[in-house]
Amino acid sequence: MAWYKTLQEFMSGNGYEEDGIWYPRVTSIVGIKAKPALYSFYASMPSFAAGEAMKEKSAEEGTLLHETVEAIFKKELVTVPDSIKPAMDAFMEFYSNNQIVVHKVEERLVSHKHRYAGTMDVLADLNGQLGVLDIKTSIAIYRDYQIQTSAYVEALKENPNMPELTRWILRVDQSKKCLHCGASLREKGGRQKIRKENGPCEHEWGPMTGEYEIKELKTFTSDIKAFLAAKTLWEWENEYWLTRLGY
Ligand SMILES: [Zn+2]
Repeated sequence: MAWYKTLQEFMSGNGYEEDGIWYPRVTSIVGIKAKPALYSFYASMPSFAAGEAMKEKSAEEGTLLHETVEAIFKKELVTVPDSIKPAMDAFMEFYSNNQIVVHKVEERLVSHKHRYAGTMDVLADLNGQLGVLDIKTSIAIYRDYQIQTSAYVEALKENPNMPELTRWILRVDQSKKCLHCGASLREKGGRQKIRKENGPCEHEWGPMTGEYEIKELKTFTSDIKAFLAAKTLWEWENEYWLTRLGY
């Protein structure tokens, strides 16, 4: 948990103001959940500061890809930077091989019932089905994404005219594959990350290749339950500030 010096700092670091009311942010609430994999990441780094720097650089790279994908969904003219071209090629393959009707991109959502706000990536019809699509640039689809995306669906459902909604994670990424063993090499935040190594191999890396993965999430009921439980815990953790802002 971050430390805040002022109420203003806490509010801008953890929420959004909509129509003069402050709401905690979905991603901040989800952040209360422990991420054990982070410990081994930090342990593998020369120092905590080096770990922080790498995480930040990796996040920046992810943001560039995320923004470029969203620009395509918005039908904006985009110049694709060379650094993410393989991943964007993979995304374009997804985009042209599916029937996609985009309704909203980067839309602020508010749950008045549960009092939280968040920013949904995309609301779209995908092959005839309406749903929330969340773009990830990670190396895998993690279960935590279920909690985050259920919060967007729950907020949308407060509109009585909203039809039935599903959720998808669209993961877009790029890596080099070993020409001998199928292991993959990614460069994230300036560090090389090798996955799917099995057995000894003097890897010989092929060209950088993009990939995409689309996964429908069908566990809304248990996911939103977990989100609201996380929110209760988040409120407990931040009681000091929440009391001061009259939450
Ligand atoms: Zn190999």
